Amino acid sequence: MMTTETCGCSLRPLELDGSIYCGLGFSCDNDCILCVANNGEKHENMSTSAMISYFDRIIENKNLTIQISGGEPTVRNDFLYLMEYLSLKAPLITKVLLSNGRKFSNMDFTAKVAVYPPVCVLVPIHSCEPKLHDTITRRVGSFNETVLGIRNMIEYKITVIPKIIVNKLNYKLLPEFVEFVAQTFPECGAVGIDTMDLLGAAGVNKEVLKIKHIDSAPYIEKAIDVAVKYGLHVSVIYMPFCLVEEKYRKFISPDQSIVMYKDPRDERLKGNLTKERGTVDACGKCKYVGECPGTWYSYFREFGYDELKPIYD
Ligand code: SF4
Repeated sequence: MMTTETCGCSLRPLELDGSIYCGLGFSCDNDCILCVANNGEKHENMSTSAMISYFDRIIENKNLTIQISGGEPTVRNDFLYLMEYLSLKAPLITKVLLSNGRKFSNMDFTAKVAVYPPVCVLVPIHSCEPKLHDTITRRVGSFNETVLGIRNMIEYKITVIPKIIVNKLNYKLLPEFVEFVAQTFPECGAVGIDTMDLLGAAGVNKEVLKIKHIDSAPYIEKAIDVAVKYGLHVSVIYMPFCLVEEKYRKFISPDQSIVMYKDPRDERLKGNLTKERGTVDACGKCKYVGECPGTWYSYFREFGYDELKPIYD
């Protein structure tokens, strides 16, 4: 990943290569107990003009993926305008949308997004059990809206990938979750399994949520088996290679080069990025250093490094 700001002036173009994570704001229609964006502080959403001025700085980039997130990006009144602006002004940039999917339960909204669709929409479903999903989102009825939203996106040929964020409340249901996705949304063709970053609300609620990778790994392996059975593409995010059997390592995604971005004035855009996950010194001379994504540093801070088993042969 290369990240260079061409000069100190905040209005000059940004040369970016890889993937940037762009939070459109902190507002959300859910209030998830595992939200990393919610740190309990009250933040204002960035203005439309602030977003446009940021987009104008990145539109020349050719090898850039922008992950549009929040909060929940679709609750912004200017969401459709921002998507149209980005699509028309920066057609070379790949747009990925991270959304809870609820707004897509409105068919009219879905139809409008479909005019300038992102390359895919990643939608977390926290369980195949509606009540558990709603417990995690703290919004009754959110499961039904998310499921309807995914159906509507499929109807409008928007590529959508359901994913689950593994935690103590749902890890034993991972195989059933993948079965649910395969049966309910076979058109999606893919499912994501993310390990959890213990930041924000997830950090506040960590006693309820935290689960050691070594305990969730057997269920992740079974979930992969289910995905393979149904021909679903499955991608596991930030699970150390050494905690799953060898045959499952190919389903673990390599480290994604992402520049975290929340605000155009964010100091991290000036080049010194804070790395928030990866392998660590305890990996030593493991043969997978450089290939293995490691895991979240928030996880290592909570559980230490004892689980890691460097692999030498
Ligand atoms: S020891 Fe480190 S590099 Fe090796 S597989 Fe485990 S986490 Fe990955």
